Amino acid sequence: MPDASGVWQFVEKTARETFEAANFREIRTPIFESTDLFARSIGSTTDIVTKEMYTFQDRKGRSLTLRPEETAPVVRACVENNLMVPDNVVKLYYIGPMFRYERPQAGRYRQFHQVGVEAFGSDDPSIDAEIIAVAVSLFEKLGLENLRVNINSVGCPDCRPSYLEELKKYFGSKIGEMCDECKKRLEFNPLRILDCKNEACQKYISKAPAPLDYICGKCKADFEKAVKYLKGLKIDFEINNRLVRGLDYYTGTTFEVISGKLGAQNAVCGGGRYDNLVEELGGRKTPAVGFAVGVERIIEILKGSNKLIPSKKLDVFIAAVGEEAMGEGLRLLRELRGLGVSSDMDFIDRSLKAKMKAADRSKAKFTLIIGDEEIKKNAVILRTMEDGSQREVSIDKVAGELSL
Ligand code: AMP
Repeated sequence: MPDASGVWQFVEKTARETFEAANFREIRTPIFESTDLFARSIGSTTDIVTKEMYTFQDRKGRSLTLRPEETAPVVRACVENNLMVPDNVVKLYYIGPMFRYERPQAGRYRQFHQVGVEAFGSDDPSIDAEIIAVAVSLFEKLGLENLRVNINSVGCPDCRPSYLEELKKYFGSKIGEMCDECKKRLEFNPLRILDCKNEACQKYISKAPAPLDYICGKCKADFEKAVKYLKGLKIDFEINNRLVRGLDYYTGTTFEVISGKLGAQNAVCGGGRYDNLVEELGGRKTPAVGFAVGVERIIEILKGSNKLIPSKKLDVFIAAVGEEAMGEGLRLLRELRGLGVSSDMDFIDRSLKAKMKAADRSKAKFTLIIGDEEIKKNAVILRTMEDGSQREVSIDKVAGELSL
């Protein structure tokens, strides 16, 4: 609604400025893609793919899906357009709506919005630290406090299978006392058990084997380097060995930003490495790392804080009475807007009194009053709304008389 859009614009503008200051360039991809793209990349056993996609057939029977996230579409678009050049880092950002058929609740919607970044072409942990730093600086610029960065590694295809075996072994004897979802997860996606919020499951999850004790030397070394860089950047973070992501394409270092100011849906940002996705989607092997921030959740925090987002004020309102005056008013609007002065006019043919009420409601800084008298004199009355003072100025000099 218009009253709320000021805060949306503030978040989007701050995101654009933050990303562009770090040399990320905007990419815009379609709202829907071939279903297969998401099934292949996010993972066929994930909640998103099995339960949450808005999938439909088009008139030719092709299966399409409203995008539940943007990483896979960005990779698809980059591969198709040959954006990934060897030995070159490509930094992109996006802003837009995503769709997941989830149970709606506070902080969880079926259409929601994300701003996010993706960086392709480097497997060096310095770029992991770079993107976490970009996320943190976005939150700083938005004035958000009480946020915590959690970081972990989910291993790579070389070392994750043996970790998953450990998890299966550990949970195997306990699964009878765990929730139905976890029973399914044990079979198809044991890593996701670590993310279960069920109390009965939590008891066992807290003592489960930690990925950092099982991942391979390369994943561990990368993770430790990222940690070292973050310390150098003086970014506060916690190592959370229960942090897993809901999408299968992640490899190695992953992270989330959590807010202490939200309820159960407390993640405002999720991201990490996905070094194999470009190749899996038909491109040349290209390491990558990215994150996505949930806009609704940011706005929820901003609404709860008493930081006021300044709303834009109208500069000039024109109250013109009579046909000729309305014509002059229209001409003045064009002139003022051309000079960057925001301006509007009362477009209803009515009395000056009614027009002045409309001027008050518009909350403009100045009102220009034009009636028959003024037309004769080639003048307007310039009223400063704050103190009600008025003076006559020549119609050709209005712009110069406004102290904005
Ligand atoms: P994900 O793509 O699941 O890693 O989500 C990244 C971020 O998007 C999360 O941290 C949330 O802030 C936000 N998000 C994900 N799903 C939803 C949803 N259904 N409604 C609102 N925000 C969401």
